[in-house]
Amino acid sequence: MSDAPKLTLKPGRERSLLRRHPWVFSGAIGKVQGSPSSGATVEVRAADGAFLAWAAFSPASQIRARVWSFDEAEVPGPKLFTNKIEAALALRRAAIPPETTDALRLVHAESDGIPGLIADRYADVLVVQILSAGCERWREPLIGILRDISGCARVYERSDTDARELEGLAPRSGAVSGAEPDGPIRILEHGIKYEVDVVSGQKTGFYLDQRDNRARVGLLAAGREVLNGFCYTGGFSLSALSRGARSVLSVDSSAPALELARRNLALNGLDAGRSGWLEADVFGALRKLRDEGRQFDLVVLDPPKFAPTPKDAARAARGYKDINLNALKLLRPGGLLATFSCSGGVSPELFQKIVAGAAADAGASLLLRERFSAAPDHPVRVEFPEGEYLKGLLLERR
Ligand code: SAH
Repeated sequence: MSDAPKLTLKPGRERSLLRRHPWVFSGAIGKVQGSPSSGATVEVRAADGAFLAWAAFSPASQIRARVWSFDEAEVPGPKLFTNKIEAALALRRAAIPPETTDALRLVHAESDGIPGLIADRYADVLVVQILSAGCERWREPLIGILRDISGCARVYERSDTDARELEGLAPRSGAVSGAEPDGPIRILEHGIKYEVDVVSGQKTGFYLDQRDNRARVGLLAAGREVLNGFCYTGGFSLSALSRGARSVLSVDSSAPALELARRNLALNGLDAGRSGWLEADVFGALRKLRDEGRQFDLVVLDPPKFAPTPKDAARAARGYKDINLNALKLLRPGGLLATFSCSGGVSPELFQKIVAGAAADAGASLLLRERFSAAPDHPVRVEFPEGEYLKGLLLERR
């Protein structure tokens, strides 16, 4: 036994750890020995004393500890982090050909074995989010290892999300290494240029998880009149326009996002005459378009997270049903709906049921043509289903 503080679980509560799920909830803990500070390494043991995991203690959160390793020989520290980050980068190299993009999620938290660490690369800039007490404790070594292994000299921190509050951590953002970006960073994804505002854009600046879905939906857009709901900086819109969409109307409530979207359009030399941009609430805009008698052949809906956890699922379901129902009312027969949910609290099965309910109410018959998930730099571990948050359906109206 080490001299690290110990969490001993209540009898029977070791089961999820034995299945390699990386979270220890406060209610599962029987006894705390020692007085671990926020982010300190603790040993997690079953009621019978058997070793279960090394974890990071988080006194403020209901997720009281997050696992670093299930192997007693792997004591958390720079060596273990280096191994995990190298493995994460090797996975990206194997799964994503370099010509696909120069913007990638290099580390995706629990799904890469580093709970609470996000690292996104945009060209030569690395943007990190430190969202757990454990990663906060190891912040400097983690950033140093990321910089060395990725080769990105410029590192910018965007630890400014609500998740940090749950861990009892104050928000923090700013340049960590190298110069502060003096404007958006230019990236190239599936042949399309985007400018990414890593300083004040949403998330770390771009929705990398939708990369391959943007490309796929673009391919389906040729010759179609497209409506892109929740367009952010124009992702699906530019992909559709570059693949020959007849027109694209893009809606978002964020003025800065739309401004960048227009710049992205110009950057790619795409025809502004085929694109319209609407700063509006999508819920209201869909109704208004209906009242105006507008019709489309392809509708994309990629809303923000309505349900972060399962307890928000009912309210989220009403939101998803509303937008999908109203989108279907705008869709011509033979038209396509590409509809997404990035809510961890809504399972793929529930999402499909909600959309089926919307179709029934709209009097539409829908053929399920394809399913969407996140790009491979957002890996999913079967033992951590929470990592599979993004799902989407491609539906054809019959
Ligand atoms: N599809 C985009 C990402 C969408 S993220 C891409 O590929 O990059 C979700 C977007 O929804 C954000 O841009 C946010 O500003 C916008 N948003 C959130 N609530 C909204 C609402 N009620 N109406 C319109 N836009 C909204």
